[in-house]
Amino acid sequence: MIKNIVLDFGHGGIDENGNYTTNGKKHTFPNGETAYEGVINRRIGGMLRSFLRMLDDDYNIITTVDENDPRDLSLSYRVRVANQFPGSQTIFISIHNNAFNSKARGFEIYTTRGVTKSDALAESIANSIEPYYKDLSLKLRYDTTDGDKDKEAEFYVLRRTACPAVLVECLFFDNAEDYALLKDPEFVKEISWRMFEGIRNYLKAQ
Ligand SMILES: [Zn+2]
Repeated sequence: MIKNIVLDFGHGGIDENGNYTTNGKKHTFPNGETAYEGVINRRIGGMLRSFLRMLDDDYNIITTVDENDPRDLSLSYRVRVANQFPGSQTIFISIHNNAFNSKARGFEIYTTRGVTKSDALAESIANSIEPYYKDLSLKLRYDTTDGDKDKEAEFYVLRRTACPAVLVECLFFDNAEDYALLKDPEFVKEISWRMFEGIRNYLKAQ
C-alpha cells in the first residue's frame, strides 16, 4: 500500500539576487531570452503537488525541495528524502526537462534498466500523457523494444531510491516550440494534470 509520494524538482531555481543556482541546465535563445530548466521543473512540479493534495486518501505528499526554494540540492540529499520512507509504501517522481541540440522535441520517461517495479508507474504516466501529446502533435520518445514505453538509464536518483522511481523529461527547454509550451500556463496545468492522473491510476491498481 503506497502512503508516500515523493516529488523531486530537478536542479535549482532563481535566488533572491536573481541568480540561477545551477551551472548549465539553461539555454539562451537567439532573441536573448533564457530558459532555466530548474525553474520550469518547479513550475510543473508545484502544480502536480497541488493536484496530488486533492487525493481523497490521506497520502503523504513530500517534495525533496519546495518549489519556492531555489537551492540546487545534491542528488544524495534528494535520495535520502525518499529513502526515509519504506520502499514498499513510497513512490518517487523526478520532474525534469530535456536539452539536446535545440531541434529535438518531445516527452521521455525513465526507469532503471531491466524489468523493475518502476515500470508500471512509468507506463501509467506515459499512458495518461500520450493522448494530450498526440493532440498537440508532440513527439513521444518511447523505447518500446523491451515491450514498454519507458527509456532506461541508471540515473542516480533512480538507482539509489528504494521505492518505485521514475524520471520525467516533459519537453525540451532548448527547443523554441517546446519552450513556448513550457511557458504557457495552460500547458503547465494540463501536463501536471496528466501526470497526476497517471499517478492516481497507478495507485488505484495497487
Ligand atoms: Zn534535468
